[in-house]
Amino acid sequence: MSTITTIRKAGLRIGRKTVAGTLRMAHLGKLTIDLNVAKAEQKRLFKEIGEHVHIGRIDSVQASPKVKGLLDKIAICDAKIRKLIKKINDVKQVNSCDYCSAVIDGDAKYCPKCSRPQKRYL
Ligand SMILES: [Zn+2]
Repeated sequence: MSTITTIRKAGLRIGRKTVAGTLRMAHLGKLTIDLNVAKAEQKRLFKEIGEHVHIGRIDSVQASPKVKGLLDKIAICDAKIRKLIKKINDVKQVNSCDYCSAVIDGDAKYCPKCSRPQKRYL
């Protein structure tokens, strides 16, 4: 193999690595934006519950259909946030819990935070 071919191939390898790294960073950036949007939405929903309870002078939060609807939306947001954290950890190649997205050891059979068994060991 000529020197020029070797240099060309090395250049292509580095180029591909750089492109892969850039795509990874872009993907990570998009996931982080989605995460921040979901967190902001959840915060807004909590605030809406607070205002509704305050203005309506509601005694039993659970009895209010509006609050129940908002709590359902918060639960959906929560699931979305956990999924996004899991995706971010996957891109960063960090092991995280299948359920609560806490960062855990690669060989952990149970999550130290939520105690649930990890899918790869079931
Ligand atoms: Zn967990």
